[in-house]
Amino acid sequence: MSDTSKLIQGRTGQWEIVLGLEIHAQVASHAKLFSGAAVGFGAGPNQQVSLVDVAMPGMLPVINRHCVEQAVRTGLGLKAQINLRSLFDRKNYFYPDLPQGYQISQFKDPIVGEGEVIVERDDGTTFTVGIERLHLEQDAGKSLHDQDPNATFMDYNRAGTALMEIVSRPDMRSSDEAAAYVKKVRTILVYLGTCDGDMEKGNLRADVNVSVRRPGEGLGTRCEIKNVNSYRYIQQAIEYEARRQVEILEDGGKIDQETRLFDPTKVETRSMRSKEEAHDYRYFPDPDLLPLDLDPAWVKAIEASLPELPDAKKARLQTQYGLTAYDAGVLIIEQARADFFEAAAAGRDAKLVSNWVTNELAAKLTAGNLEIEDSPLKPDEIAELVALIEEGVISSKIAKDVFERMWAGDGRPRAIVEAQGLQQVSDTGALEKIIDDLIAGNPGQANSVKEKPQAIGWFVGQVMKATGGKANPGTVNQLLKSKLDIE
Ligand code: MN
Repeated sequence: MSDTSKLIQGRTGQWEIVLGLEIHAQVASHAKLFSGAAVGFGAGPNQQVSLVDVAMPGMLPVINRHCVEQAVRTGLGLKAQINLRSLFDRKNYFYPDLPQGYQISQFKDPIVGEGEVIVERDDGTTFTVGIERLHLEQDAGKSLHDQDPNATFMDYNRAGTALMEIVSRPDMRSSDEAAAYVKKVRTILVYLGTCDGDMEKGNLRADVNVSVRRPGEGLGTRCEIKNVNSYRYIQQAIEYEARRQVEILEDGGKIDQETRLFDPTKVETRSMRSKEEAHDYRYFPDPDLLPLDLDPAWVKAIEASLPELPDAKKARLQTQYGLTAYDAGVLIIEQARADFFEAAAAGRDAKLVSNWVTNELAAKLTAGNLEIEDSPLKPDEIAELVALIEEGVISSKIAKDVFERMWAGDGRPRAIVEAQGLQQVSDTGALEKIIDDLIAGNPGQANSVKEKPQAIGWFVGQVMKATGGKANPGTVNQLLKSKLDIE
């Protein structure tokens, strides 16, 4: 059953969006897929180029074993079939950023077959996206159009860099689901160490296939939006494109299958070229490369070396620490965040620790543009702060002040509490005096509490005010109830 909240309301009725994604992920590797040239961001133009990368006559490609291992590792992380025999094909097209005149890719026999990814929605529910395949291929160079008014310059540093293309089934039905899917795949790749997931540098980008249909009908004609490299752009591109298609169809038109570009400044997609078919590329097996035959024992060894992956970690955090699916889901988005949590949670109230890590600490890190690995506050300091709350030394409210001082570099939480005299007032004598004075000075309020017990909140607020927020709320409530003679 389709979820009606995700449908587009058109003039003539409702439409369903159907989305499939091709994610291009740059393989984390020091060298290119078929040459020993270095891979890395920030080198000067054409400083990381070998004769193979620019297809000088007589050059021959040699497969990089590490890149193959990374593809297998990724396939295993996507719970996918590893194909022990795969082939490299030439995908022929001419473009200045591709000096060979063809891209070495995998067409009929990719290294990884079908798999699946479980994706969390924001509300904590999950859905499954089928993976059709993952194949290895070369990236192209870059055309620079802004260096000279009359010429295009070429930078071949990226030419020949290894990419994994991860092709999904058309299993997503909204822009939110598409963004959540890319986030989840990114998290898995980063956990595996097979791609750094840096979307700003274009190291992970998506081609989005968008079509629309009446609910319950067969698939409509799709358009492919190329190279979208942020979650927000993915969502904007999908929403614009789906609307565009609905308008055409409602006007009685037809969708042309084509490749489109997303323009982030205008927030629209526009036609790039009519969609080519596989035969336009005249694919054939690359005669310079032997079939890739994997040793099953090698694949098993890679499998044995996989780290704990996001889904398993999430399940473990739920059972081991009693966290909700939502809290565990937020913690596992980054491995370092989950590690930080576990280091702080040992022996503490895990729910409280999780709240501090995902709320206050996360907000400060985001504001300071810091990764959790670089947090100035360490897990043992958060643990100490939570211990102070658990011991009743400070209230949660005071803990926020203490946290601010910790962040400002005032020292460890226990020392801050002592130096600033922030301990909760649980001393009944002192509190009794304040309460007696309040009741004596406000007889009208005291009487109304006897009729309307919830009016006790006013007295609690006054006691808090009088103690600078340091009164132990439990003690205050208890004392007020006995003095006002309620319950
Ligand atoms: Mn591709």
